[in-house]
Amino acid sequence: MAGGSTDIPDVPVVIISGPSGSGKSTIVNRLIRVCPVRLYKCVSATTRPPRPGEVDGEDYYFLTPEEFERRRQAGAFLECEQVHNLGHWYGTLIDELRKARQQKAIPVLEIDVQGAVKVRRRVPRVLSFFVRTPSDREYADRLRQRNTDAPEVIEKRLKTALEELKLADRYDYQIVNDDLDRAVSEIAERIAQWEGRGIA
Ligand code: 5GP
Repeated sequence: MAGGSTDIPDVPVVIISGPSGSGKSTIVNRLIRVCPVRLYKCVSATTRPPRPGEVDGEDYYFLTPEEFERRRQAGAFLECEQVHNLGHWYGTLIDELRKARQQKAIPVLEIDVQGAVKVRRRVPRVLSFFVRTPSDREYADRLRQRNTDAPEVIEKRLKTALEELKLADRYDYQIVNDDLDRAVSEIAERIAQWEGRGIA
């Protein structure tokens, strides 16, 4: 990963947020493959340890707290946040936007609601989606089924999920993830309409 300059490239940005358990990662991965508009999934940096199967540079850039802080102070992040009150940092590196631009693709950020607020302040053209399940009960069910986190971690994620839901109406579109294909097509269509004006 390059050290990165702090200038923000002039690119439109797609944001996808949604509580843990909303299925947003699955949506984003499929969206990247099927969207008629070329998209680039920005890899976030985090200080959280990798889960089994997660690959550095693909799922996240896994950084030590010292390295994350060094980059934060150097202004390398478009936004960064301590998510879930678990002490872990997450952030979007400006360098990722540059990579998207080099590929003539639109960067897609999968970030939390606070991160989205910060990006909207710094990037003029943003299209944002909030992914939710048909009922709030399903977040808990999906998180527990995923079984990758300790029970107390799941409870904290659930609490954050309920907080995030309160901010859903700040997004351009709320997408109900009742059917994966339908949800992905809806987002792809919205992006295609929006992008009709073209990227520089
Ligand atoms: P997880 O630990 O389950 O991979 O991610 C936890 C949360 O962190 C998710 O809600 C995800 O959207 C958020 N997240 C991941 N990357 C970033 C980022 O770069 N910035 C911000 N603000 N949130 C992020």
